[in-house]
Amino acid sequence: MSPIALVTGASRGIGRAIAARLARDGCRVWVNYAGSTDAAQSLVAEITQAGGSARALQFNVADGEQCAHVLEAMIEEEGGPEIVVSNAGITKDGLMAMMSANEWRQVIETNLGGFFNVVKPCLRPMLRRRSGRIIAISSVSGEAGNAGQVNYSASKAGLIGACKALAKEIASRKVTVNVVAPGFVETDMVKDLPKEELAKQVPLGRFGTADEVAAAVSFLAGREAGYITGQVLGINGGMYM
Ligand code: NAP
Repeated sequence: MSPIALVTGASRGIGRAIAARLARDGCRVWVNYAGSTDAAQSLVAEITQAGGSARALQFNVADGEQCAHVLEAMIEEEGGPEIVVSNAGITKDGLMAMMSANEWRQVIETNLGGFFNVVKPCLRPMLRRRSGRIIAISSVSGEAGNAGQVNYSASKAGLIGACKALAKEIASRKVTVNVVAPGFVETDMVKDLPKEELAKQVPLGRFGTADEVAAAVSFLAGREAGYITGQVLGINGGMYM
């Protein structure tokens, strides 16, 4: 039976590219999304037309009860995922002096809380099976900090700490936990940014593509990455070394 891969925030952008790539790698993919039903369904159709297997799962990663409810039912029905990619994320940018408590909370609850809410229900089957891959999508902002993104940088740095701790907790069960930290990647999230200006800050001189991030996730999710855990892999064109 081919392994199941759960990808959160897979209707658009980086998550969509990761889900498509893992499907091409031979996984049955659970395509999570928040509101973009048409986009998620079109990805499922794309994957199935290409001979793969995918299911769309709508839930809000910031809502722990909803995550547990949906994922426990799916695990009961199909078995636990072998690969979990915690990718769903949002920004609510602004200087901290102007930031509302709500903007702080929403970003932390989605980006960092979402990791806990989604990974927790999937852990037990992985530990029992003594195999699994957990990959969190952080950001260069979590490694270096970024002005105007105190909430986002905190959530993305938190993911790195959480993954290193979890990697140590479950290494004995042969489940690996790694982080992929992209720089600027062309998606809806960065569509309003001054691209040409920002590309000058990148040693490789351009934004990355979602497929380039997906290729790194595919490697970390694969058999050959079995001796890599607790690591942070930057996909950032040299922005942060
Ligand atoms: P995007 O194009 O804005 O897509 C975000 C995805 O997350 C969508 O599929 C969205 O679903 C989903 N999502 C948002 N909130 C959700 C929630 N509460 N529950 C479930 N799904 C939710 O973003 P992206 O650029 O692909 O970013 C993906 C990840 O990479 C994020 O964690 C982001 O922080 C990180 N990242 C991005 C960049 C970049 O330059 N793009 C750089 C570094 C890190 P709907 O379509 O249903 O709304």
